[in-house]
Amino acid sequence: MEAKPLGAQQSWPATAPLTVLPGVGERTAERLRAAGFSTLADLLSFFPRRCRDLVEIDIPSAEHLGSLVRLRGRVRGTRAAWLPGRRSMVTLDLAAADGTPFEAPFFNQPWLRRAWAPGSERTLEGVLDVRGRKFMLRHARVLGDGSAVEGPVQLRYPEVEGFSPARLQRWIGLCLERLDWRTVRLPRVPPVEGVLGKEENDPRSLYRGMHRPASREEHEAARRTFAVLEATALFGEIERRRRARAARPGFRIAVDDATERRILARIPFELSPGQREAVRELRRLLAGPSPMGALLQGDVGSGKTAVAVYGALAAIARGAQAAFLAPTELLAEQHHAEVSRWLAGSDLRIALVTASMTAAERRQVRADIAGGRAHLVFGTHALLSEGTSFASLGLVIVDELHRFGVEQRMALVRKGRDPHVLVMSATPIPRTLALSLFGDLDCIALREPPPGRRPVRAFRVEPRNWRRALCSIARAVRRAGLVYVVCPAIGEDGERQGAVLVHEQLSRRFRCGLVHGRMPAAERQRVIEAFRRRDFDVLVGTTVLEVGVDVPDAVLMVVVGADRFGIASLHQLRGRVGRGRRRGLCLLAGAAGPRVRAVCESTDGFALAERDLALRGSGELLGAAQSGRIDFRALDPVEDRELLGSVREAVRAGFEGAGAFRTRSGP
Ligand code: ADP
Ligand code: MG
Repeated sequence: MEAKPLGAQQSWPATAPLTVLPGVGERTAERLRAAGFSTLADLLSFFPRRCRDLVEIDIPSAEHLGSLVRLRGRVRGTRAAWLPGRRSMVTLDLAAADGTPFEAPFFNQPWLRRAWAPGSERTLEGVLDVRGRKFMLRHARVLGDGSAVEGPVQLRYPEVEGFSPARLQRWIGLCLERLDWRTVRLPRVPPVEGVLGKEENDPRSLYRGMHRPASREEHEAARRTFAVLEATALFGEIERRRRARAARPGFRIAVDDATERRILARIPFELSPGQREAVRELRRLLAGPSPMGALLQGDVGSGKTAVAVYGALAAIARGAQAAFLAPTELLAEQHHAEVSRWLAGSDLRIALVTASMTAAERRQVRADIAGGRAHLVFGTHALLSEGTSFASLGLVIVDELHRFGVEQRMALVRKGRDPHVLVMSATPIPRTLALSLFGDLDCIALREPPPGRRPVRAFRVEPRNWRRALCSIARAVRRAGLVYVVCPAIGEDGERQGAVLVHEQLSRRFRCGLVHGRMPAAERQRVIEAFRRRDFDVLVGTTVLEVGVDVPDAVLMVVVGADRFGIASLHQLRGRVGRGRRRGLCLLAGAAGPRVRAVCESTDGFALAERDLALRGSGELLGAAQSGRIDFRALDPVEDRELLGSVREAVRAGFEGAGAFRTRSGP
């Protein structure tokens, strides 16, 4: 006889609101919505970031030393201790099922001392180790009661503010049990050669594989399937954009040889072979029938500005205007000053829009821009978002884009007419990243530095050997070289590594200027000009110096608190020196972290970019991607490099196929 589904619980559609979950009322649902969860499907698609093999054991034993284990124990007590450097340690003391004692230390969470009542039972995960004669769990975490986690893997989910992992797990568990799986539709997984095996592909087993896998292999298979789906969506979108752009008519900027000669005559140096190649590519793209979207990549000091100016002059030669956008006012002013020197004596009108202009000045410049009387306009990235209108904007140059802002900027630029867009990366972007984030742009690479520019090597200085750095500064100054000293903070309150205090100290020995982001732009510019004129020998500053300040006589870059900077920043900073005839040197004062070490070990920006991405993982990228067009939950652009490449090929081939079909069946 068939069992009647009497009393069987009703199943939920994937689109059901979270209030169907027991214990979730309107208020909680509201908070969940703020965290990005509106439906059961959202909860199901909240994927772990990491999955590791784990052994479930009842009793700690030597056989499992070094393994990640899950273990239940009865709390016997807690101890707290202070470690050097104001670090605290709370040790949880437990007994396993047979009474075997074990411990788990937790650092810098002193409040945990009171978190566990003696006598209560807890499940912990951690790496089994011994200290003295006692078992202990390293990197332990205590599972919340009722988190219902089991199975031979450890899953790590991203944090969701305001909701404990245990609570989210309970809800996810309920979803898995009660969902009406017929309401879950996944896009078809495209046939991608060699990427996926023949695993089961129904939604139910895929989602179980993500949240409740029976093995790491099962989880990985499910994750790869979702990763392929995400990559397919990503490249589909990229390809659509690329094609949409190609289909729009653009303003053709054809440069004939005579014009090219006139343009090159304005650039005060012979282009390097690398620049010539980049210019050739730029010339080709500008002349195309549709608006260009190009990414010019090159290391610090590789000479991107000249390439961009070539583009601007080409646009202007064809009667259009060009906008040159920089990330900071300082940089906009510098570019303006530099390029004005290049173009002195020509009848080009060059404008600068800054926040520090008076209202009247602004109005005047805006009128010039709108009336087409200003040909080349410098400003910050805000220029376009403020809605400055141009008479005929032909090319937008976005300099030193902060890695991920490009999406918004491209969108902005595209709002009105369709100018050509050239974005320049401050430092090279790892290939994988470029592929997934800027895949719809044409890449122009500037790989080799201008002649005579030698790579700037970096050396680490122990903070307690600060005297050595001082000696180097004194030596550089004696030999008439200029020196930058960059600090991780302004430190108006007198922070030890702050620019204010460091400036004060160095001023006792050297002629010393100070710049930071809290100063008015005009004042900053004045100090930098004074430095360039050699009124100072040493310029102390914050990372405002990171981008583009260009003083050819600077030979030494000293970074204070170097361990507080990222790889890209450090590499960027050392690119500020050795721009003239003399070789540059960089000293990194600070603890020896992996980032400082990487910068000391390599001078190749492209290699450092890859290293940076590997070190940081794709966390940062994920943050950025989420604010952009695609939400990566399963895909890890670093780990899944190959998968990305294969999917990209497959998607492109798909589009080509469709295109070919259309052509054949067309009129
Ligand atoms: P980045 O790629 O970092 O923007 P820049 O365009 O600012 O680099 O160029 C760095 C420095 O090298 C500038 O002082 C610039 O004038 C100089 N430079 C660029 N190209 C050449 C070249 N072909 N010959 C000589 N100097 C060059
Ligand atoms: Mg530059």
